[in-house]
Amino acid sequence: MSSKHFPFTRQQLSEIVERFPTPFYLYDEGAIRANAKRIARAFSVFPGFKEHFAVKALPNPFVLKVLADEGFGADCASLPELVLARRAGMSGEDVMFTSNETPAHEYVFARAQGAVINLDDITHIDYLEKACGVPELVSCRYNPGPLKDGNVIIGRPEEAKYGFTREQLFEGYARLREKGARRFGLHTMVASNELSGDYHVETARILFELAVDLKRKIGIRLEFVNAGGGAGIPYRPEEQELDIEYVARGMRRAYDEIVVPAGLDPLGLRLEWGRIVTGPYGWLVTTAIHEKAIYRRYVGLDSCMSDLMRPGMYGAYHHVSVPGKDDAPRTETYDVVGSLCENNDKFAVQRQLPRIDVGDFVVIHDAGAHGRAMGFNYNGKLRCGEVLLRPDGTLMRIRRSETMEDYFATIDFEALAAFDA
Ligand SMILES: *Cc1c(COP(=O)(O)O)cnc(C)c1O
Repeated sequence: MSSKHFPFTRQQLSEIVERFPTPFYLYDEGAIRANAKRIARAFSVFPGFKEHFAVKALPNPFVLKVLADEGFGADCASLPELVLARRAGMSGEDVMFTSNETPAHEYVFARAQGAVINLDDITHIDYLEKACGVPELVSCRYNPGPLKDGNVIIGRPEEAKYGFTREQLFEGYARLREKGARRFGLHTMVASNELSGDYHVETARILFELAVDLKRKIGIRLEFVNAGGGAGIPYRPEEQELDIEYVARGMRRAYDEIVVPAGLDPLGLRLEWGRIVTGPYGWLVTTAIHEKAIYRRYVGLDSCMSDLMRPGMYGAYHHVSVPGKDDAPRTETYDVVGSLCENNDKFAVQRQLPRIDVGDFVVIHDAGAHGRAMGFNYNGKLRCGEVLLRPDGTLMRIRRSETMEDYFATIDFEALAAFDA
């Protein structure tokens, strides 16, 4: 069981919305900091540990600055993400550039910034060399294929577009060494939203074994392995949260069994966890603006899937609560929906909830990762802003809502007026 918490009462929210009208995202800085400390403490059993927060999960530089202050680096996959990490004070090798199908100018930019380039394919060795030369430190992404099961969000490794095969890795590191690389990292990412601790330990074990093989067979001594992201969170109240300490201890045990006897200690451990770092500490706060009853009963919110795509995209469950009615009996069955002209725009489907009245606040939980970030503008929908709850209890706007000017910013209306259709 995991408990579903929201930091404000209905009364407090009615005051907050005078400053920050719904919909908006709310993030709890104190809870994010406490969680970051817990992760760092658990993995301090490793000689060299670094967590590179996956920027795509919550690309807000205020939150990134908080995480940098907690000692975290970043994992970036595009040029704008590299810029965000740098603006937040994350620099040099604290930034992993784990991209795929990467354009040359992004490699150039990443190298100039001193980020650790993590190659997604063997053909990118020559591509990188041509773009900006091969840096001293390079990492390669491994796809274990049939050696590892995947899960529904990320799919099976065998069908995944990412990474090198095992054979390609041996050839790739040797080629990188010929081209001047001297320091090496190994990366993999095989799971998404995975709640099994053993699954994560097993991933680290695969990387440790490969580190030993690379040393024995081709004399490449890795500086670090990076087990990627994918740590799950209990979206459903009946799910159990991932035991971070169990994962860290299990990985350390595998390290003692595999890495230490091979004489490869110290070997750094890096992670690119995103979801588990901020996910549970973010909420999409909305207001019920309509109620309709046809073949089913619907509650219509002042938000839609352009603010939170996960339910529509993956059929993902997000817990829904109604501040002020936490203890009310769940007597009603609703589809809780947004305003997009797409019938999968549903935050909850056939959900048992207390009676919801127009004007009630409706809170969507566990929206602190892969939430606002996945938003879009289809149907002319403007994405909502973001608010940070500071540890001293004050609220700070860390991103305003989009305006029509933002939406039209890419159109030249003078050219339109002069355009003879
Ligand atoms: C998405 C992603 C992550 C973060 O995944 P989470 O599920 O948020 O932990 C980390 N690394 C890479 C390469 C990714 O694509």
